[in-house]
Parts: sequence; structure tokens; C-alpha cells
Amino acid sequence: MACCHHFALHEGGDAAFAVDPNAIVFGPGVLGELGDHARILGMRRVALFTDPRLARLEPVARARASLAEAGLDAALYAECRVEPTDESFRAAAAFAREGGFDGYVSVGGGSVMDTAKAANLYASHPAEPLAYVNAPIGEGRAVPGPLAPHVACPTTCGTGSECTGIAVFDLLAMKAKTGIASPRLRPTLALIDPLVTHSLPASVVAASGFDVLSHALESYTARPFTARPAPARASARPMSQGANPWSDIGCREALRLAGRYLVRAVTDESDLEARERLIWAATLAGIAFGNAGCHLPHGMSYSVSGLVRDFRPAGYPDTAPIVPHGYSVIVNAPAAFRFTGPACPARHLEAARALGAEVRDAAPEDAGAVVADHLIAMMKAAGMPNGVGGVGYGPADIGALTEGAFPQRRLLDNAPRAVGRDDLAGLYADAMRYWEGG
Ligand SMILES: [Zn+2]
Repeated sequence: MACCHHFALHEGGDAAFAVDPNAIVFGPGVLGELGDHARILGMRRVALFTDPRLARLEPVARARASLAEAGLDAALYAECRVEPTDESFRAAAAFAREGGFDGYVSVGGGSVMDTAKAANLYASHPAEPLAYVNAPIGEGRAVPGPLAPHVACPTTCGTGSECTGIAVFDLLAMKAKTGIASPRLRPTLALIDPLVTHSLPASVVAASGFDVLSHALESYTARPFTARPAPARASARPMSQGANPWSDIGCREALRLAGRYLVRAVTDESDLEARERLIWAATLAGIAFGNAGCHLPHGMSYSVSGLVRDFRPAGYPDTAPIVPHGYSVIVNAPAAFRFTGPACPARHLEAARALGAEVRDAAPEDAGAVVADHLIAMMKAAGMPNGVGGVGYGPADIGALTEGAFPQRRLLDNAPRAVGRDDLAGLYADAMRYWEGG
């Protein structure tokens, strides 16, 4: 079957893709190696980032013990906000600037790792708050040089943030999520210890696990790198390159693992094998989306979380309403893949098969629906919200959701077909509700 994803070269399109491998140490117990890795990276005075809940739990205690054992001086910053904001980034950057640190360690989920990335950036290269933020919301200024070393230790089955040069936050004044993206932001080392997943609440496993699934699915179906305009010079090739043969490898295995283990990991808290497999899927999907880039479900998620009114999920600190990142992504996903299916049916069917869907008799024109139906079945089985309506929105919000998502060009332009304003509004309408009841 002819498909755009066979990476055929196009006139004016890029002919190359880049691979900049991640440094990863993965295995049960590796959190105990943290001090030694930090010392080898030249750290003497370490800023240790975490959030208030994690600060009292075992992974942080183990990280501190390991740093102390290696003779390193560590100052704890436990104020990272779950779903960070420009304000919380600023507070973290002030801590980093004033502490005179020569290295960073983050122990937590995507929010903690992203906060450490931003603090490291603004302490290493001070600038106005919006200087490095993606255009058009920020100035999109290039990061001028290397940052201090950063060891990222994820504690969810997770975001993959340990493998990417992206930091995402809510810009409070605009009620929208945006981010900073630069290869310089990527942690120097990802230290991934599957044992940390054993004590996670099911709702946290669900939110991070569906995020992983969507990272893999979006990177796999992203616009092929050959369809992206060739950069004017090599150094201008974007970090989100589009789907390519390298990112495909991680996506396929991450999809297979998510298909097999995600629902198990959420519905049975004693299924430790499923949780450990899921954190490996998260790593693979993180490598893939850090290289290829996500598209519509993530682009649409920014306004779903940014405009939150009163949604308070179980298992999260109940200080303020939030739509956790993974929820805000997956509620868009079935509608998004129905929309992108026609752009490359073969890819969508391959992805559905990797997830465990029966695709033998599926026609190319059904590809988007096959992916969507399988996702919806998984969402129902794992108790996820029923679409955008399930996290507190109604048809009257479609205009605001659309306006919040439309500026997210880095993500929207990485979709395999063009997405206009009307398309976005149609996507939110389609994402409002996926099943009866619930
Ligand atoms: Zn994500």
C-alpha cells in the first residue's frame, strides 16, 4: 500500500534526520547509584528538585542518601508544582540562582523534571521570563550555551521528560500551556529505577501511562521528516523532526508494551510486572517523541488543562483543580486519530495492530476509526474520563479550547495533515464524549 510514511524524498523536503542518543541507566535499584553518577558529572553542590508529596517518600530519601554517601552537598527544593506555571518556574529559578549550584537532580514526574530544566536554564543563562519560550507566545530565543549537568530520576510510569529537551508550563496570564524546547534542556543523564513505580496510586499510573501511549502513537503517525521543509542550514533542523526510521523503532515497542500492560498496571495495583514494563515503554516513547515530536492530542491538550475549572481527579493533591497532563492528552486522542487516519492509513493500522487491535479485515478508510475504537476500549477499561466532557467541558467551551490550541504550531504542524481553526473546533466537538454513560 502506498503511504506517505515510506519516507520517499520530496522536492524541497528534508532528506536527513538526526539522532542524538540519550544517556540512560535503567534497572531496579539504580537510584542508589545517583551519587556516583552525579560526582562523575562534576557536581559538588547539588540542587535536588522534587514536589511536596514526594519529599516525604522513599525515592527522595534514597536519592538524598546516595548523594550524601558520595560526599555531595545537596539542597532540597520541594516546592515544584504539579502542572507547573510561569510563576512556579520563576520561584524555582530564583532558588537555583541564589544557591550557587553546579548540578541539578530531579526526582519526580514530568512536572518536577520540567521545573528543574527551567531552573537550570534561567540560572545558567539569565533572561526575561518569556525569552526562551516557544514563539509566538514567547520570543523563542535560542539557548546560548550549555546548561549545568542534570540527572533526571522519573518516579511515574511516565512522561518521558527525562529523555527530552522540552519543559511545559501554564502561562497564567493566557490560561494556556506552552513550553521551552531546546536540545540544551535535555537532562545529561536519565536514571530510571522501575522500583519507584511500585507505590504509585492507580490514577497516577493511568494518567502517565496514557500519556506514554499517546507519545508513541503521535510520534509514529507524525508527518514524515521528508515532508517537512528542508532547513536553511543544518543547525536549523528542528528538534521535532517528524516520524523517521529511528523514532519508529522506539514507538513500535512502546505501543506493544502499552497495549499489553497499561490496563493491567492501572486495574491491578499488585501487578508489579505491568508497572515495570510500562516505565520501559515510557522511556522508549520519550526517546521517540523527543526525536520525532508529538502532534494533535498534545497540541489540543494545552487548552484542556489550561482552562480547567473544577476538575479534581482522585489521587492528586486537592489544593487546586487540575486536569493531569495524561488525561488532558488522551481525551483528545480518539478524535485526533479519526482525523489523521486518512493521511496515512497503513501507519494507523500498524499502530493499532501493535496495540493489540484486530486489523486483518480493516479497510484503509477505517484506519482512523480502528485506532480510535481501540483507544476508547482501553480508556473505558482503565476508568479514564469520557472525552473532553469528562473533564468538565461542554459544547459552549469549544471556541475557547480552539483558540488556546491554535497557536501551538510546533505540535499542530507536526500532524500528518494540515489543521485549520475549523478543523480544531470539529476535533473538540468530536472529542466531547465517546461512550454512553460513564
Ligand atoms: Zn505528554
